[in-house]
This record gives sequence, structure tokens and C-alpha cells, in this order.
Amino acid sequence: MPLGCPVCGEAVDAPERDAGRLLVCPHCGKWVTLVREGESAPARVDARSWLRGSAGQRDGIAALVLGVLSLLALGIVFGPLAIHYGSRAMNDPDQRRLGRIGRCLGLIGIGFMLFWVWLLFFR
Ligand SMILES: [Zn+2]
Repeated sequence: MPLGCPVCGEAVDAPERDAGRLLVCPHCGKWVTLVREGESAPARVDARSWLRGSAGQRDGIAALVLGVLSLLALGIVFGPLAIHYGSRAMNDPDQRRLGRIGRCLGLIGIGFMLFWVWLLFFR
């Protein structure tokens, strides 16, 4: 099945496995995600928004950073935030891994915090 450009509709000479890949269309010169012919076109991606990263990407990175922060300090604050952003990142298939790591770190951060509180006050 031939691949096509969702912007100009021209067929693009690329192997089937390139469907969904981001590249510059040889016909219209725009950054596009190749689609299989007959498939609904995904939203167009221009170079600038691609460089800025998708919302899911930002959520994934936020989850990871907050997760690490929760391990270092204030797990009770950063932990839930990491879990929140991690859950949001899980909606994006590309960021699922990052989201899961962020949520995991957030949970460990909260656990650490509870452990320290227990150690300091309840032992
Ligand atoms: Zn095109």
C-alpha cells in the first residue's frame, strides 16, 4: 500500500514501515507524518512544534524530573506531582515508558518520605 503526504496528498515513495514517521515531504517541503493511503491524516506537524516537543513529551519529561526530585527531597510534594504528570504522559503511546518511570519514582519518593517521617517521629 503506498504512503502519502497528509498535507498535499501526493504519494511518497517510502517503504510501508515508514508510516507514522516524521519527515520532509519531497513534494510540498513541509514536515509531515506519512500516512497509509485511505487512512485518516494525523494533525500536521510543522518543524517548530516538533522541536518544542509534543504535550505528551513535556509531561513525560516533567514526570521523570519530578520523580527524581521526589527521591532527593520533598517526596510528599514532588511525588504526587510526578504521579500526576506520569499519568498524563501515559495517554501518549510514545511517552508511556517515561510516564511509567516517573510514576514509579514518584511512588518511591513518597515511600522514602514516609520512611523518614517514621524514622524521625515514630520510632
Ligand atoms: Zn506534501
